[in-house]
Amino acid sequence: MSAILEVTNLKKHYPIRKGLFSKQVGAVKAVDGITLSVEQGETLAVVGESGCGKSTTGRAILRLIEPTEGEIRFNGTDVRSLNPEQLRRFRTDMQMVFQDPYASLDPRWTVQRILEEPMRTHESAANSELKNRVAQLMEVVGLSPYQAGRFPHEFSGGQRQRIGIARALALNPKFIVCDEPVSALDVSIQAQVLNLMQDLQQQYGLTYMFISHDLSVVKFISDRVAVMYLGRIVELAPTKELFANPQHPYTKALMSAVPVPNPELKKTRIVLTGDVPNPETPPSGCAFHPRCPFAMDRCRSEEPVLRELESGHQVSCHLY
Ligand code: SF4
Ligand code: MG
Repeated sequence: MSAILEVTNLKKHYPIRKGLFSKQVGAVKAVDGITLSVEQGETLAVVGESGCGKSTTGRAILRLIEPTEGEIRFNGTDVRSLNPEQLRRFRTDMQMVFQDPYASLDPRWTVQRILEEPMRTHESAANSELKNRVAQLMEVVGLSPYQAGRFPHEFSGGQRQRIGIARALALNPKFIVCDEPVSALDVSIQAQVLNLMQDLQQQYGLTYMFISHDLSVVKFISDRVAVMYLGRIVELAPTKELFANPQHPYTKALMSAVPVPNPELKKTRIVLTGDVPNPETPPSGCAFHPRCPFAMDRCRSEEPVLRELESGHQVSCHLY
């Protein structure tokens, strides 16, 4: 396997401005030094509570928002050095599927127009050709091409997400950031959409970054998992390994919150207390220390770094 995407020390800081002259008084460190790589053909899940920076990470990688710092290499290309025109062409390879398929689909457009749009912007195809491509796309995601003349509101939530996926596929991308793609759907529909995404991955050799707060979804879909807390990765491991052998106290706490049939984990049950700290004033040292049952003196002053425990399993905690 080789890495399709390599992210080094990625940061996205938002300035906090106050007063009459909007003086910058600080920064919200939404993403604060993420380093990871995604292998060709794999699904890397990024998990964490809301506000941990997982969506911001996905968007910054695609440059839908501009990173503050760091390096993003996609198939060897330095994504941050691309000018707008180069970036526009480059975007055909990197797409996004959004959480809320309704909000991300223009309600005034037919599905035909929604799916044609990316091709019109990026390619010069004849109208008949576009019609065929849209019909193909709809079939690929399990919708009837005869429904292409309908509007988004005429479809169910699951079908709308299929349209969102079809739109992401329109330009034959290699890499898709999926931001909570099934969170807005009924549980009974989630499995269908996840199965579809897996089939498409196989069929087209796609690589996914799968952002989610739902560990059961992550366990089902991903090959590896990165756990984020307040803008940083605290643990990264192959999915099986992470669920069998979580190391970071935060990961253990997340897993304690969902029913996992693993007696080992029950013994080490950790209940998350307190809220996620305000990212404007993150705690000193290890950002998890106010909520961590194992916090030591050192944790309050010294920031732990991500270290490899064994092959492929990284954790950022002073216990190790
Ligand atoms: Fe807990 Fe300290 Fe580890 Fe942070 S570094 S997770 S506070 S033990
Ligand atoms: Mg989000």
